[in-house]
Amino acid sequence: MAVEGVETVVDVVPAAAERNLLAQETVPMTVLAQDPSITDDGGPIRVALPVPAGRLAHGPCSDRFRVVSPAGVPLPVGLHVGDPWVYADRWSPTAQPDAHALPEDPDFRAQNVFAVAAHTLALFEQRLGRPVPWRSGLPQLDLVPQAAPGKANAFYSRERNAVLFGWLPLLPSRPALYTALSYDVIAHEVSHAVLDGLRPRFTQPGPPDQLAFHEALADLVALLSVFTVPGVALRLLAATDGEASHPGSAALAPSELARRRVAETAASLAALGVEPAGSVRLRLPDSALTSVEERLTAAVTAAAQRVDVVLAPWSGDAHPDHEALGRAACAAAAAHGVPVLAFPVWTWHWSRPGDPRVPWHRARVVRLSPAVRAARRDAVACFATQVRPVGPAPEDAAVLPPEVLEHFDRDVEVVFA
Ligand SMILES: [Zn+2]
Repeated sequence: MAVEGVETVVDVVPAAAERNLLAQETVPMTVLAQDPSITDDGGPIRVALPVPAGRLAHGPCSDRFRVVSPAGVPLPVGLHVGDPWVYADRWSPTAQPDAHALPEDPDFRAQNVFAVAAHTLALFEQRLGRPVPWRSGLPQLDLVPQAAPGKANAFYSRERNAVLFGWLPLLPSRPALYTALSYDVIAHEVSHAVLDGLRPRFTQPGPPDQLAFHEALADLVALLSVFTVPGVALRLLAATDGEASHPGSAALAPSELARRRVAETAASLAALGVEPAGSVRLRLPDSALTSVEERLTAAVTAAAQRVDVVLAPWSGDAHPDHEALGRAACAAAAAHGVPVLAFPVWTWHWSRPGDPRVPWHRARVVRLSPAVRAARRDAVACFATQVRPVGPAPEDAAVLPPEVLEHFDRDVEVVFA
């Protein structure tokens, strides 16, 4: 309470003020990033999903979920080693380098369904700032990863206080299908259970919009929560290793330059806080992409399968490699029927306001928060072999001098849609 005329100063410890007391300790659990059909060379794409840490009994069972058989009995699957407070991930890339066998492993399916459900519930509870009750009034919601066979669908049952995941047995014509392996399906059905706990009357007779709202919210959570999964949103393709940027340099041989550029890319992704789900390096000749454009286009088209959008340099950037890659990206996107967002790089350096060579009518501005802008600055600084001289000679000069870098420190990004 402030007294008139007296300035009140409240002492707070900055770290304590910023600390979110609702944020829980988490453990990373391996799950399939999207659906078993989304694969790379190592099999289905998996990610480490943060899951609230807790005591795990067989099932697995936590304080909020029980993974059970169709009869409602906890499964014998143990995710803990000895002590129920100690979780061991048996399906991480280190523990099991080959992911091909994961979908057929019932123990993994139990972990997958448990981890995605627990992560989804935690997202709700963190945003709401309070625990979400289940409609049953019981502390735990049951998850049945292998409900009755013959249904390629899953559903939330209020009566059974459970989410039941259907599955289709293996046939000569196709592999077995388990809905308990699909991130979207699990997040969608758990959202129904969450909403039913928060607003039980939404399922009572009423205008049709009520049920439509249930479905829409569940779909939105499933869709948006995928973006909280580290790396799922991004697959990286690098056409060259950038070895030709300092042709006359005595300080840095092209092979060493390529090695450093690859490490710099990894560091810059870490600075941005993103971990690509897939990464492809084509190692095509730097500054000579036009000479291998057919191969480039084929590789980009292969890499762009099952993506929602392709981000690439703009094909009018007045840099031969950027233009070749921009054209390849457009061809790949057209082949898969997905949009391209093209980003200008050198354009900022040679164009002028209202420049007729630039498709300004297709320009879209993305505003950046101060945190994102700072992360981008850190990411750019990681490319030491481009932003700083690589040696003392004139041939070693930075390819991106400060006046060029200035263009990349604004509070916006611009793409051509
Ligand atoms: Zn639904």
